[in-house]
Amino acid sequence: MIDVTVVGGFLGAGKTTWLSRILEGGASVHAAGSVAVVVNDYASVGIDNWLLDSASGEAGGMSARLVAGGCVCCDRKEELVSCLISLVGSAHRTGQPDGAGLSHIYIETSGVADPRSIVEVITEHPVLQANLVLKELVVVVDGANGRSQLRHQELARAQVSCADRVVFSKLDLAAEDTFSSLAALVTRLNPTAGLSGAVDGRESPLTPGQVALALEALPVEGERQWERENFNPEAWTVQLSAQVCWAEYALWLDAVTRTHPEHVLRSKGIIHTPNGPIVLQSVGRVIAQPRPVPPSERPADSDPTSMVFITQGLDQDLLARSLHTFVPSAFQDRAPQAGAN
Ligand SMILES: [Zn+2]
Repeated sequence: MIDVTVVGGFLGAGKTTWLSRILEGGASVHAAGSVAVVVNDYASVGIDNWLLDSASGEAGGMSARLVAGGCVCCDRKEELVSCLISLVGSAHRTGQPDGAGLSHIYIETSGVADPRSIVEVITEHPVLQANLVLKELVVVVDGANGRSQLRHQELARAQVSCADRVVFSKLDLAAEDTFSSLAALVTRLNPTAGLSGAVDGRESPLTPGQVALALEALPVEGERQWERENFNPEAWTVQLSAQVCWAEYALWLDAVTRTHPEHVLRSKGIIHTPNGPIVLQSVGRVIAQPRPVPPSERPADSDPTSMVFITQGLDQDLLARSLHTFVPSAFQDRAPQAGAN
């Protein structure tokens, strides 16, 4: 299987700079095999492609493809599919048994793309589904100007709310109060996302101080009401008992994400299975391949786990009631309750 990282983020967020640095890291990042990059530029002349081409000189063994003149999440979707299929095809032709073939594809989306559609493309096309595995959905947010984009652009909020990881770019240009209100906003939009920072595209973990700012900052005066009226994504956390029946839960999640792909933007959490606890997550109507919980985050066998849902325009009580009805085992060790935690 070939790993895929989808890189999203609003126009000018710094996606290309971040990706260039990753590619410069080359061999150290990608131990075996080569890397391909698919760049989607909304303009018909692909400027990003040139930037990436010059960055890739140091990576070696990298190929870049450009899908220009439209957006890969909508009008250039077919082109994205054929581009990925041709990469898969060439990987099979040149692939070595020792795994030295193509090992990773980065898809840099245009600033106006909804990354959820790209995830759907990868996971629903039979050829792509059989060859590609979505590793991470990274969304780059402009650390200096991101807050106004998030306030004014619904799409920027949708991008953040489906991310596995949010990278705050240009942190050297952001004053502390600018960063804290931005990071707090991002955390409210998507409490499931990992956070990191970048200066000139070079990524590093947030400092403990920055993490505290992201977790603790409250909406500034007057903003809370505004957020309530304008920010549709809402987070809902539910606790699942250690006795939860995993198959029952998976069936329910599948039904919910298929019925309400526009309303359940993302879900992520840990659930117990007979083979140990796993991380389970969904983006839109796509449920990602479950993976084992890292040892440091492993819950005890008897501990309840929790699942976070990021919803939009969905009555959360309805979601809670449906979970109680269809996955009664999720509440087995507790008295049934109507609402969310
Ligand atoms: Zn689009």
